[in-house]
Amino acid sequence: MGTQRKSLVHWFRKGLRVHDNPALSETFKVARDSPDEFCVRPIFILDPGILDWMQVGANRWRFLQQSLADLDLQLRKLNSRLYVVRGKPIEVFPQLFERWHVHLLTYETDIEPYAVTRDATVQKLAAAAGVKVDTHCSHTIYNPELIIARNMGKAPVTYQKFLSIVEKLKLPKALDVLPRLPDGMQPVKDANEVNDTKVYDCPTLEQLVKRPEELGDNKFPGGETEALRRMEASLDDEVWVAKFEKPNTAPNSLEPSTTVLSPYLKFGCLSARLLHRRLQDILARHPKHSKPPVSLVGQLMWREFYYTAAAADPNFDRMLGNAYSLQIPWQENSDHLEAWAHGRTGYPFIDAIMRQLRQEGWIHHLARHAVACFLTRGDLWISWEEGQRVFEQLLLDQDWALNAGNWMWLSASAFFHQYFRVYSPVAFGKKTDSTGAYIRKYVPELAKYPAGCIYEPWKATLSAQREYGCVLGVDYPHRIVDHDVVHKENIKRMSAAYKVNREVRTGKEEVDEYELKSQGNAKRKARAVATGRTAKRKR
Ligand code: FAD
Repeated sequence: MGTQRKSLVHWFRKGLRVHDNPALSETFKVARDSPDEFCVRPIFILDPGILDWMQVGANRWRFLQQSLADLDLQLRKLNSRLYVVRGKPIEVFPQLFERWHVHLLTYETDIEPYAVTRDATVQKLAAAAGVKVDTHCSHTIYNPELIIARNMGKAPVTYQKFLSIVEKLKLPKALDVLPRLPDGMQPVKDANEVNDTKVYDCPTLEQLVKRPEELGDNKFPGGETEALRRMEASLDDEVWVAKFEKPNTAPNSLEPSTTVLSPYLKFGCLSARLLHRRLQDILARHPKHSKPPVSLVGQLMWREFYYTAAAADPNFDRMLGNAYSLQIPWQENSDHLEAWAHGRTGYPFIDAIMRQLRQEGWIHHLARHAVACFLTRGDLWISWEEGQRVFEQLLLDQDWALNAGNWMWLSASAFFHQYFRVYSPVAFGKKTDSTGAYIRKYVPELAKYPAGCIYEPWKATLSAQREYGCVLGVDYPHRIVDHDVVHKENIKRMSAAYKVNREVRTGKEEVDEYELKSQGNAKRKARAVATGRTAKRKR
């Protein structure tokens, strides 16, 4: 009987969880309704080729490996298992459809352009093989397409507008716990498994992490079990939840001052709908609570906001051709970029943040503000796309829509336009850590510097530097730029770029060459970039 049963395949991509997973629940339901006819095969497709070229650091590979191992464990508790299939989806599926007599394929929808293209191809392959496909939107609370439809076909470009739309929508409910499959429903082994019993096993750490020397402490282990534990721990103090205001949390506390649920939401180890419902339950018990944009619900709404905006523009992660982004004549400077990415700018607060990111894979939101502003409009005048790429590699929570959206915000390229408000790489960190304990932890060369100059080591005399055991230019770099000087110049450049973008957008492109000359270089460059006449696309 077993060999004749058709397979119901659930394809995990993000959404690495069994709770509140509508596409997975559907396969389970169909199987339970007709146990003699069907069996369930949940799969994850791993293309070994991507290990060599994908911009993913060792810490995130480990997070994925742990998440897959935990997912397999959770599925086994439900009388199923995870089948990890090696290969490229479009090559793998035609074989699976045939080998497993697939009847139904389910998966969670994804807005990322490469996924949209890939999924369209898979749907065609499925149609050709007579396989039914069902998809569900469950990575976000609301379906971005629905919000766009409610806003006359356009994504809302302000958070308030976004809120006003979702407030009128029915709040999708998180699903109940998934019941176990009845005993005896396991699929029979296929020929590959008969040959090699481990063929569909989860990858080991050694298989996924090619550069183990880059691994930092395993502070945030991957997986649904840890996601749910972390959510419960975060929600335990209901008063903290009810009073949460993001601007009052610290970028440089030694332990995180926010939930660090982002890596779990990114991989879908945690359902955003479940977290949202749990937050709503708590707020109902604490009527005097903070509100969006600063509350915890407000944080989830930022996630929804950027997802919706990103869903409407496949060029969301680049400046050229991006409907949201202003065109700004950023400059290339590989030395500065390298110094920033590796925490060697000579600004201890900036360097501490970048080193924490490299070691642990997570940094606080306001710390991200500080380093993103420093790289772009604040100090180095380097494109947000470069910063996005470094974050793409190092963040555990790297998310196409959120990374790009926030980089555009911080570089004042979109969504936020007060470019004259620049973070000081010295004063900002002092507000919440006057003694510099955070710097001492992540930039240990400076550990002996007193609080008075740990944010500005260049203020120490050479003999004092020797006494503290860290001489600038020898043990720790000199500042690569002088913030007090460059940030003022950059505000002027920003002002020129804004003016030109406004002119281009309102159709006044034909600016008099004479006028351009008199406005100087900054405006000329800005105009060339804004009109797309010089810029070259990098990817
Ligand atoms: P909490 O404050 O506990 O918030 C709860 C959840 O709300 C987060 O887990 C996250 O899913 C969501 N959230 C909070 N703030 C934001 C925000 N500004 N935008 C979107 N969602 C938010 N977040 C990512 O998840 N992936 C990224 O790739 C990413 N890149 C960023 C790049 C830059 C330059 C900046 C400034 C921010 C970026 N963020 C990104 C947003 C934000 O910094 C993180 O989501 C947040 O710091 C995660 O920590 P947490 O889980 O403790 O957040």
